[in-house]
Amino acid sequence: MKLIAATGNKNKLREFREIFPEHQILSAAEAGFLDEVEETGKTFAENALLKARAVCKATGFPALADDSGLCVDALGGAPGVFSARYSGGGDAENRKLLLKNLMNTENRRAHFCCCIALVYPDGRELISEGRTDGAILREERGAGGFGYDSLFLSDDLGMSFAEASEEEKNAVSHRGRAMRKLKELL
Ligand code: IMP
Repeated sequence: MKLIAATGNKNKLREFREIFPEHQILSAAEAGFLDEVEETGKTFAENALLKARAVCKATGFPALADDSGLCVDALGGAPGVFSARYSGGGDAENRKLLLKNLMNTENRRAHFCCCIALVYPDGRELISEGRTDGAILREERGAGGFGYDSLFLSDDLGMSFAEASEEEKNAVSHRGRAMRKLKELL
């Protein structure tokens, strides 16, 4: 079956292809969909559905989309759906702002969340959610990963996501868990 992934992100495409080797996964651009879908939802699930519905409608094929972010307890769940846009700058500025906003905060608990939506042309919709728990470090650790990885001390791994190999991270990450759940739903 042909599935269209509502992303141009090469890492996400690779992960989708690894988890669904029996399907032909095309990026939205490869399927002729070049629009940016605005992430106006209040939840990860809403944003994933918005993107998957738009790509499914435009291409006529089943579409996959994900949305993810970091939720920090002491910040009332922020940055949440605004994780990518937290500081208005890039990943490094986002990490700097997070450290600043938690400067005098003892409670460092946080989790990453990922929702993946699969929408079919006949209107069926599947949604899976994955979560991974940890704590926000007081300074960056590790050189790998992206986003908030170097500030996230994983409960499961006992090291930061930026210190972990890709395999180690995928085994416990919010995205890995959401992907495996979706596969079970299918
Ligand atoms: P999106 O799901 O591509 O919209 O990504 C949302 C944002 O959440 C990213 O830009 C990162 O800032 C953050 N994020 C999501 N997943 C991860 C992760 O696995 N590691 C670090 N940051 C992440």
